Amino acid sequence: MENQRNLYKDLESILYTRQQLAQAVRELGERITRDYQGKRPVLLCILKGASVFFSDLIREIDLPLEVEFIAVSSYGASTKSSGEVRLVKDLDRSILGRDVIIVEDIVDSGMTLNYIKNLLISRGAASLRIAALLDKPARRVAPLSVDYSCFLIPDAFVVGYGLDYNEVYRNLPDIGVLSPSVYGES
Ligand code: 5GP
Repeated sequence: MENQRNLYKDLESILYTRQQLAQAVRELGERITRDYQGKRPVLLCILKGASVFFSDLIREIDLPLEVEFIAVSSYGASTKSSGEVRLVKDLDRSILGRDVIIVEDIVDSGMTLNYIKNLLISRGAASLRIAALLDKPARRVAPLSVDYSCFLIPDAFVVGYGLDYNEVYRNLPDIGVLSPSVYGES
């Protein structure tokens, strides 16, 4: 914490330490390795929030996997979803007939993943699973089942380990709850 004093002072609390995150990601990687034996899955990173989780996760999976990246519009300088999802960067290659694992940082309303799931189904993926670091079920709007998740979290706005507020805090190695004073709600 010493080396990032400026970022940590904006946190109300730390939810998961880097050690807890590393352990959970390791276990998830082992699980995916078991479940996809004999397969060559495509791991799809949802930019930008999932990038840190994604780069750690793929190195915990012992399979000949491939990586792809997709970007959708996010909240911008807000802590609430607009409910509108926009494709900002598409896949580079076809996923027709492929086993795809969508890697997401956090599932909140479920709107983003619902959109991406429908897109991939229309592109002919053979199978689709969702791996999310965090699952915030309290605010789910879209019916969505998360196949793999590391932590269930309460309804709070969190940052760090790839998750941002207004593009900042992604480089925090731990995940914490952002103080409401930072986004003007206290
Ligand atoms: P959904 O479409 O499920 O409502 O939202 C998914 C996206 O919203 C996530 O990929 C993430 O970018 C953003 N999001 C949802 N909850 C949080 C949160 O607590 N903190 C941050 N930083 N982003 C969040």
